[in-house]
Amino acid sequence: PQTGTDAAASPAEAEAKATFEATGVDVVGLNKSFGDNHVLRGIDLQVAPGEVVCLIGPSGSGKSTLLRCVNLLEVPDSGTVTVGGFEVTDPDVDLDTMRRHVGMVFQQFNLFPHLTVLENCTIAQRKVLNRSQAEAEQVARTNLERVGLSEMETRYPDQLSGGQQQRVAIARALSMDPQLMLFDEPTSALDPETVGEVLSVMRRLAKVGMTMLVVTHEMGFAREVADRVVFMDGGVVVEEGPAAQVIGDPQQERTQDFLARVL
Ligand code: ADP
Ligand code: MG
Repeated sequence: PQTGTDAAASPAEAEAKATFEATGVDVVGLNKSFGDNHVLRGIDLQVAPGEVVCLIGPSGSGKSTLLRCVNLLEVPDSGTVTVGGFEVTDPDVDLDTMRRHVGMVFQQFNLFPHLTVLENCTIAQRKVLNRSQAEAEQVARTNLERVGLSEMETRYPDQLSGGQQQRVAIARALSMDPQLMLFDEPTSALDPETVGEVLSVMRRLAKVGMTMLVVTHEMGFAREVADRVVFMDGGVVVEEGPAAQVIGDPQQERTQDFLARVL
């Protein structure tokens, strides 16, 4: 796995490294209950390296829980999750090692309000990856440039729009050199006028080969960017396939009902 130690290269070289060393995800037979609420009911889901999968479905269908099981923010009751050939549900696995290769972006950006944009993007690199200040700043600047926020590095989160804050959150996640990015409704908390800039950043990330699993209500984005769309309802995968098929010509009644409500 990529450790990021090669980031001691010159800024130009780091910037030239436009593509990612992406990995895949394999979820098999995943079950998760909260008390007697059986939320995930035998989920199987594969994402190939460099593939973009959009996960859609009604509120409460288990989408967030599934994402949180992929990086073990929730521990599944049964089933396995393998990231890059590395079984993260193995009880002996080192969670820190696994999590640093999986980036996650939430609906709420969760930036540190008392830290600048640049500091928000360097703190975990310093603490988790033990990078030097200079190296962490160089990596952060590369990723702030990637999300179009080079000019904003000395600002504080409350001096930014929601869309800009979410782009910082993406740059922060990318600064950890993830091999897989999980997005949980990244545009749901945004003002409509800033949704597009966040989707553009995600579209570019998809183009340069990042593996992405994206929970979204943005059907336009899913149709355009997703290699595959997975529709979940009631803790099961009801239907999956190419976006044009699942969104454009759904076969299952539950998918048709959901799309009739959101489109
Ligand atoms: P979605 O993201 O599709 O809206 P979630 O995964 O958030 O669905 O939630 C699925 C179900 O699991 C809901 O019934 C929700 O109330 C329940 N749930 C999610 N997280 C927890 C938790 N930490 N504790 C108890 N119940 C939870
Ligand atoms: Mg959710």
